[in-house]
Amino acid sequence: MNGQVNVTVDKKRAKPCKREIFNPATNKIIAEVFDSSLQQVEEAVGKAKQAFEQSEWKKNKSLRVEVLTKLANLLENEASIFAETETLNTGKPIKEAQLDIEDTINCLRYYANLIEENQPWTKDMFDDTNSKIIQEPIGVCALIVPWNFPLLLGMWKLAPALAAGNTVVFKPSELTPLSFLKLASLCEKAGIPEGVFNLLTGDGEVGSALVEHKDVAKVSFTGGSETGKRIYQQCAKEMKRVSLELGGKSPLLIFEDSEIDIAVDWTMFGSFFNQGQVCVASTRILVHESIYKPFLSALMEAVAGIKIGNPLREETEMGPVISTEHLNKIQDFIKLGQEEGANLLTGGTLIDCEGGNYIKPAVLVDVEQHMKVVQEEIFGPVITVQSFSSEEEAIVLANGTRFGLAAGILTNDLMKAERVAEHLQAGTIWINGYHTPHIETAWGGFKESGIGRELGPSGLAAFTETKHVNTNS
Ligand code: NAD
Repeated sequence: MNGQVNVTVDKKRAKPCKREIFNPATNKIIAEVFDSSLQQVEEAVGKAKQAFEQSEWKKNKSLRVEVLTKLANLLENEASIFAETETLNTGKPIKEAQLDIEDTINCLRYYANLIEENQPWTKDMFDDTNSKIIQEPIGVCALIVPWNFPLLLGMWKLAPALAAGNTVVFKPSELTPLSFLKLASLCEKAGIPEGVFNLLTGDGEVGSALVEHKDVAKVSFTGGSETGKRIYQQCAKEMKRVSLELGGKSPLLIFEDSEIDIAVDWTMFGSFFNQGQVCVASTRILVHESIYKPFLSALMEAVAGIKIGNPLREETEMGPVISTEHLNKIQDFIKLGQEEGANLLTGGTLIDCEGGNYIKPAVLVDVEQHMKVVQEEIFGPVITVQSFSSEEEAIVLANGTRFGLAAGILTNDLMKAERVAEHLQAGTIWINGYHTPHIETAWGGFKESGIGRELGPSGLAAFTETKHVNTNS
């Protein structure tokens, strides 16, 4: 299974279970991939367990540094092919896919450097003993990711998991397996030992069997909050280690001293990057009442000017959403918002372009905090705009959902920004900015947006057990 996809019969269904993979820009089939069978889940975990117990991987840090660095170099050599694959499979504009690949390579290099520098913490203690803190790998890690950033979010897990000395079984989304299938062959070339990296394809049934497997010691999951809750319950039975990166409904707070043009630019980027299919997307725009009207009219102009079309073209700013099913879900949310009393200022209509899943970005106003369009994650190019009259009100509105993934604050008053940031329940807060994930920092959510943090040193720690050794010599 290392470095290749095994195609066998799904024992449960007693026949090969083939899945068609679509290009969201045309809805044409671009590949056919076999879902892994439950038997293959067994085999993959078995191989990962054997490799963890027997291979030198967990003991040999320099081998891990060498392999991760080599993988980064191999990926860099094929960056344009990977970017194109990602665009074909997800519909994201090619320029955004190129950024994803760059960030993926940086992630590999970051964790290779981090483990090279890391040394165990040690100290002579008050009682003449010596204490040492050792970070050990956990064992077999199940890594499960969604479809919006297939390679990048996968690497946010794979790089630290491998760097820490674990072995892994990885499962991409059933909608977007292509970039990781390609990566598997590079893993082999980079010299990852047999059984250390294993890849399964398929949907939640395969994912669930993997989570449930008794030899999986850690589950690291990125996806929807409801799926995350199910996985959390499954893991609780055996106290499996678990990290959950889940959904969001993030606010962007625009204060009265913000320049309208700049505020509109950040809103467009924060809300519509990757067609709004981003966990941290700024989907709730909160604007001070004194600039609400001029902001809204400038926003309408910007939304009207967005270049929507073939994502392979360099000039495209917005591509199609991932699937027709998802497109329908987005439209249903917009309709629901209108039924709830919201006013659709623009967008929400479909665009007829080569049979793809194109929708015009939608802006809903006259919304109330309790409405579903304000409370639920839509995961598409749909935003609500609300006004506020005071700092306190802005904070209450911003914190008023079950999510707590990210937030943005736009103001020239940095003292106010920091004061507001202190009160916001969000794992990442950008002041006068939005969206950029900084690899050395931390990524994750408050409340129902998840448990644990990825990226930075905490991303590595998430794949280790901490052992304190105290010696009285
Ligand atoms: P999803 O929860 O439907 O699926 C995510 C992955 O889990 C897929 O690989 C899927 O096959 C698998 N899966 C589904 N059911 C499973 C189960 N019962 N057991 C194990 N695995 C299972 O999510 P999605 O629609 O693919 O992705 C969109 C969601 O991901 C959004 O809610 C978004 O906010 C979230 N997301 C979060 C982050 C973050 O960093 N917090 C990043 C990206 C996306």
